[in-house]
Amino acid sequence: MIDFEPTEEQKAAVKMAHDFALNEMRPIALECDKEGKIPDELIKKAAAAGLTAMAIPEEYGGGGLDQVTAAMVSEELFWGCAGIATTLGANSLATTPMVIAANEEQKRKYFPRLTDPDNPKFAAFCLTEPGAGSDAASISTTIREEGDYYVVNGQKCFITNGGIADFYSVFCTFDREKKYGGIAAIIVERSYEGVSIGKKEDKMGIRASNTTEVIFDNVRVPKENLFVPMGQGFYNVMVTLDMTRASVASGAVGIARAAFEEALKYAKERVQFGRPIIAQQAISFMLADMAMQIEAGRRLYLLAAWKASKGLPCSLESSYAKAFCGDMAMRVTTDAVQIHGGYGYMKEYLVEKLMRDAKIMQIYEGTNQIQRVVIAGNLMGVTDAYPWG
Ligand SMILES: Cc1cc2nc3c(=O)[nH]c(=O)nc-3n(C[C@H](O)[C@H](O)[C@H](O)COP(=O)(O)OP(=O)(O)OC[C@H]3O[C@@H](n4cnc5c(N)ncnc54)[C@H](O)[C@@H]3O)c2cc1C
Repeated sequence: MIDFEPTEEQKAAVKMAHDFALNEMRPIALECDKEGKIPDELIKKAAAAGLTAMAIPEEYGGGGLDQVTAAMVSEELFWGCAGIATTLGANSLATTPMVIAANEEQKRKYFPRLTDPDNPKFAAFCLTEPGAGSDAASISTTIREEGDYYVVNGQKCFITNGGIADFYSVFCTFDREKKYGGIAAIIVERSYEGVSIGKKEDKMGIRASNTTEVIFDNVRVPKENLFVPMGQGFYNVMVTLDMTRASVASGAVGIARAAFEEALKYAKERVQFGRPIIAQQAISFMLADMAMQIEAGRRLYLLAAWKASKGLPCSLESSYAKAFCGDMAMRVTTDAVQIHGGYGYMKEYLVEKLMRDAKIMQIYEGTNQIQRVVIAGNLMGVTDAYPWG
């Protein structure tokens, strides 16, 4: 009944992702972190390897990876560099709402833009606003009908790949008074008049990734771009996040694993009081705890991803995985810095970057407090347990 053996396809995907992380991402990770950008060359190589279009079904040129394989690949990419991995993975977040709800014509028009290895493009998921983060049902970006067009007005913030995307999946409201009932989603191209990029964020971690405001000022969007009708947008967001959170959790495991490996190596090499510091039980027990927590996190993300891939309800498991793995990555990376002593505080040591990168795993795609709201709601027998419910 239970089989922990990955399939041959999964083993091949993980090996490919690991080789890419090791040979292409790791060598430039510290530089990308410092500069706050990724060389075009790397993006092209990632696109050629299929790493920018993993969630897009094969019939549109994408990888068509199931959630389990996608999560396992995500662990490897985040092991390589969380900032680069966030950039590559953001297409999955932007396209999952479309995979769920877009019609054939919309998929045929937009998905191939993301799967062309010679001219790789990005999409971005636009939900968060300055006044609406966790409380996503309060978004104030409006959409209204005007002849053959919809007109979109509003401001989104903290948008991954906001400044480099070719198009956006934008969540907006026909009627704020209706809260969830008013929300819809529409595809907005970067080239449409009235779309502009606002502030580019200067971040603590995942610095290689591009995070910006995206502003919509009376943007006229063809009617055929509406892909989630009024009233179904909020549900679409919830289903999307249930499907993608296992890959965030697995990314956290990848960061933690990278930190653990660095700490283990250092603890064996660093000699104090005449012997390697790993000979001190205080240090070896920290490493034992790190290894144990990483393994537990991996089991949790695999369970959430497995349920998602079977089309089973997985809100609870996705929240378990996202909250546990995000918190775990923060603890493990902090301990990895501790094991490095003063050297761990220095930018030339990878663990310094890993600790900064880990923090985002507790924040984006629903903070870990919000995951606990979902879990607690479930315990209380409230299945729709979001705070805005
Ligand atoms: C680097 C980065 C990339 C991002 N990428 C994207 C993206 O591509 N697209 C997108 O749409 N968004 C994106 N986000 C936004 C992200 O999802 C939000 O920041 C997050 O959901 C939290 O919203 P907020 O920042 O407004 O915090 P708030 O919602 O204001 O929360 C502030 C604090 O209050 C807590 N809190 C709020 N409500 C409750 C409650 N009911 N119970 C308990 N605690 C509560 C929160 O957990 C948090 O600790 C990104 C954010 C960052 C930092």
